[in-house]
Amino acid sequence: GAERTKNVLILMSDTGGGHRASAEAIRDAFQLEYGDEYRIFVKDVWKEYTGWPLNNMENQYKFMVKHVQLWKVAFHSTSPKWIHSAYLAAIAAFYAKEVEAGLMKYKPDIIISVHPLMQHIPLWVLRWQGLQKKVIFVTVITDLNTCHRTWFHPSVNRLYCPSQKVADRASLDGLHQSQIRVFGLPIRPSFVQAVLSKDDLRVELEMNLNLPAVLLMGGGEGMGPVRKTAEALEESLYDKELRKPIGQLIIICGRNEALASTLKSLEWKIPVKVRGFEKQMEKWMGACDCIITKAGPGTIAEALIRGLPIILNDYIPGQEKGNVPYVVDNGAGVFTRSPNETARLVAEWFSTKTDELKRMSENALKLAQPNAVFDIVKDIHELACQRGPLANIPYVMTSSFSSLIY
Ligand code: UDP
Repeated sequence: GAERTKNVLILMSDTGGGHRASAEAIRDAFQLEYGDEYRIFVKDVWKEYTGWPLNNMENQYKFMVKHVQLWKVAFHSTSPKWIHSAYLAAIAAFYAKEVEAGLMKYKPDIIISVHPLMQHIPLWVLRWQGLQKKVIFVTVITDLNTCHRTWFHPSVNRLYCPSQKVADRASLDGLHQSQIRVFGLPIRPSFVQAVLSKDDLRVELEMNLNLPAVLLMGGGEGMGPVRKTAEALEESLYDKELRKPIGQLIIICGRNEALASTLKSLEWKIPVKVRGFEKQMEKWMGACDCIITKAGPGTIAEALIRGLPIILNDYIPGQEKGNVPYVVDNGAGVFTRSPNETARLVAEWFSTKTDELKRMSENALKLAQPNAVFDIVKDIHELACQRGPLANIPYVMTSSFSSLIY
């Protein structure tokens, strides 16, 4: 019937925490806005292959030699720019099978890619199946500033960019204005919906109610100079003359269990809470006054929504580098790799330079785009409505495609 539930397939990969966070944000926003109108599937393309390609180099090599040639031929007509990289081509070959299986299984009316390497293959599969006109394909970029060109594919129905800088790059790469929307990075709706006051959160989280609080973290995997920074903060946030702390420290280690257990075993002069992977980041951020983190896009966007001044102490080379000027040039934070410098800054913010902390917090709020995830799903919904009531999409296994892959 006309009111058939539409299937949405979100293609992500669990490298780092950011892609998953964005995928889940979009899923949750769809459910909040449209309930049963959409059925959402989040497909982690790498999941079944943890460790690849490092776990099986010999076979991978054979695989590459065999398939990269095929790939070159197969892609000649579309000529993606990354085909020259054998490594990327091999990755693409590897996940093509997963993508086709996903298409067969979930029969999506809408495909959303939140990964830089998941445009070319799915679009190619769709074309192979003659479904390019029937299925809506959109890309949601999860890098704030600089991003890899594999994100840009001219055949998408929409490209959602987190910032104007990314949109400009997309235009330069040949995407048309009508395809591009700039709404911001999709953040879990729980961040957008009202949270408790700082005081209430501190009661709930069993924090000190009076001391200013700094949140120290390193993405989903607990990366960066967390321990050194914690130890430097212990010194800088302890008033030696009065023999009492001037601040408290929350350390969220994510999936880095070794780090969490080491930090838990230490004695601290100031109030410190060490946590593993936290499911309610919006609460911890809401209870703190500033944050120290590597330049992960998810953490940055979330901290901006909570108005937290940010000290960036690390970044993953390549995709996270551009996130640094995004924060610093907009006056929402600073960059330093030095744990001592970080500790000194926080101590100043909590004592003599509270005005600077306040100004940065205001800048952070100005930069925040809390409604991005809702803007994105509403726009996708409009696209779906324009297509009218969709007939069941006739997915069939294309033997030619499968035999090309394997
Ligand atoms: N995160 C979380 N719990 C934790 C640590 C991190 O939910 O204990 C979330 C964090 O809120 C953010 C994501 O994981 O949404 C990290 O994404 P980011 O882009 O900052 O870095 P990545 O881990 O992808 O390198």
